[in-house]
Amino acid sequence: MTENTHYNTVIIGSGPAGLTAALYTARADLAPLVLEGLQPGGQLTITTDVENYPGFPEGIMGPELMDKMRQQATRFGAECQFKLANSVDLSQRPFKVESDDATYTCDALIVATGATARLLGLESEDRLMGHGVSACATCDGFFFRDREIVVVGGGDSAMEEATYLTKFASKVTIVHRREGFRASQIMLKRAQENDKIDFMLNATIEEILQAENEMTVRGVRLKDTQTGESREFPCEGVFMAIGHVPNTQLFQGLLDMDEQGYIITKPDSTATNIEGVFVCGDAQDHVYRQAVTAAGTGCMSAIEVERFLAH
Ligand code: NAP
Repeated sequence: MTENTHYNTVIIGSGPAGLTAALYTARADLAPLVLEGLQPGGQLTITTDVENYPGFPEGIMGPELMDKMRQQATRFGAECQFKLANSVDLSQRPFKVESDDATYTCDALIVATGATARLLGLESEDRLMGHGVSACATCDGFFFRDREIVVVGGGDSAMEEATYLTKFASKVTIVHRREGFRASQIMLKRAQENDKIDFMLNATIEEILQAENEMTVRGVRLKDTQTGESREFPCEGVFMAIGHVPNTQLFQGLLDMDEQGYIITKPDSTATNIEGVFVCGDAQDHVYRQAVTAAGTGCMSAIEVERFLAH
């Protein structure tokens, strides 16, 4: 039998955006329900040390930061459930959100489903994620001071991350699967003119090589896409910059989105095209993608929900 429960506010997603929205709506006495989704805590749970979240001068582990955010939200009455929202009905009020075993109705909905870094899909990449493999240069670049690293991709993100990483790394090699670039001329040129950046074109990564008896990276096995030959390339870090995919499939056809699937918000607001539905964090942000900016927009959504419900 499915339970059927009504909440003032349901929040879908439990990264910094969702849990900040939960904290603020809970403190506004709205007793929100958070459906935590497939990756409770969001993308920060796949990083190790977070050193750029204000308030933690010594840094904090990503999963621990997210646990603290969850504790802070539940302390004020947010209810967090490890459930996945499978479908939503925004055509009637209250809105309806369904999980495997329950149907929830709500007056206001906050979408905080985030984005997922596109990955190569290698077992070694999964195993070494957070241990030399990263999908976020701003988060993890600092740990690669004087190290040699590889950045995968040929778009603006790859150029930007590679350029940023030269602040720390002794050498950065951009590995790209073809000769043409998706990156804009200006970003490409900046990377090409940087003495610390090399390019390895027509190459894909077959495997990320783990150091013996240690959870660290010692190199990658590259495959030349033209000759088919494989060879090992030494490096200590691998940064994936092959794009992000917003986790917004659930709202396809319901909420206005750009062509990449990011939900469109009204200017200076987190409001969507449906009154009472708000979106925060990476599901609507393909520019900044930081925990602190996600938390900031989560706070915005909560304040907007409070005002919406007060009307
Ligand atoms: P993107 O433009 O989609 O580029 C992704 C890159 O990754 C492409 O070069 C693609 O290769 C490669 N790639 C994708 N899947 C791959 C795979 N499985 N194996 C190997 N390579 C793979 O993504 P993005 O660079 O993240 O940029 C996304 C958007 O944000 C763009 O509109 C970009 O302009 C914008 N952006 C702007 C800035 C800025 O202006 N400061 C910074 C970052 C991003 P192919 O080219 O062969 O498909």
